[in-house]
Amino acid sequence: KQGALGVGLYRSEFLFLARRTLPTEEEQVTIYRKLLNLMGGRPVTIRTFDLRPDKLASYAQLGSSTTRPFDWRIVLTSHPLQQLFREQVRAILRAATEGPARILIPLVTRSEVLDFVLETLAWAKEALVREGLDHVPNVPVGVMIEVPAAVPMVGTWAEQVDFFALGTNDLTAASMGMDRDDPIASGQLDSLHPGMLRLIHSTVSDAHQARKPVSVCGEIAADPLGALALVALEVDSLSVAVPQYATTRAALTGIKPGEIADLRPQMLRQRTARGVRALLEGKRTN
Ligand code: PEP
Ligand code: MG
Repeated sequence: KQGALGVGLYRSEFLFLARRTLPTEEEQVTIYRKLLNLMGGRPVTIRTFDLRPDKLASYAQLGSSTTRPFDWRIVLTSHPLQQLFREQVRAILRAATEGPARILIPLVTRSEVLDFVLETLAWAKEALVREGLDHVPNVPVGVMIEVPAAVPMVGTWAEQVDFFALGTNDLTAASMGMDRDDPIASGQLDSLHPGMLRLIHSTVSDAHQARKPVSVCGEIAADPLGALALVALEVDSLSVAVPQYATTRAALTGIKPGEIADLRPQMLRQRTARGVRALLEGKRTN
């Protein structure tokens, strides 16, 4: 209703958090179909379960001993998580008959994880064909760039994926050596740190070199100056939480990418986030 062109980040782990049990494949098919149906033909990017004890910490009943086998960071050694991931991938491919779904993998840090993801997808397609279940085999697959070590890998991974999504919440915290929920971090984590802008610039350049689009789905896109910076850095799409949509939209109204092209080199030359903000303020139209 607000005019968004799609769902840029559907945090599927909320399904788990809301009920504290794992949804089955059939339950997921029903939920994803409903979501695609509600979006009436606009693309929906379903991020696979980003389960991590730090994210679950606020849910008191889920102690880390319960959640550890489902910690996405240990996917290559966790059989329960691999099984959960297989079911989720199957569910997304099956639900995609209802509308344009996209699969997004959180926190890809190593090529081995990407290989596991792609092997699982190939396996899921074969299994669905064998079982005669309706599905869409060519659902676009993207990876989230959320740790600094992943940034220089973008060019290497580009030929294996369809798109990239920068998770600037985690990327900022990891780059600054902070825990994103640590009270000390608040006030010190500014995603407009010039080093962060260089990481984003590097990601976009390497992805575009391979003709792959980049979206940003961290809080930075909800900051009017952040949104402007991302457009100047030639990010292809922005994703924000629904309550922030109008602010981001307004921040970009009247901005023509060609007119702010000179912003990019100027921003990248700044020494401080404060300097970046001052520069962007001068270009603001709203
Ligand atoms: C991010 O890290 O920027 C992101 C979009 O993912 P989440 O906030 O769910 O960790
Ligand atoms: Mg994240």
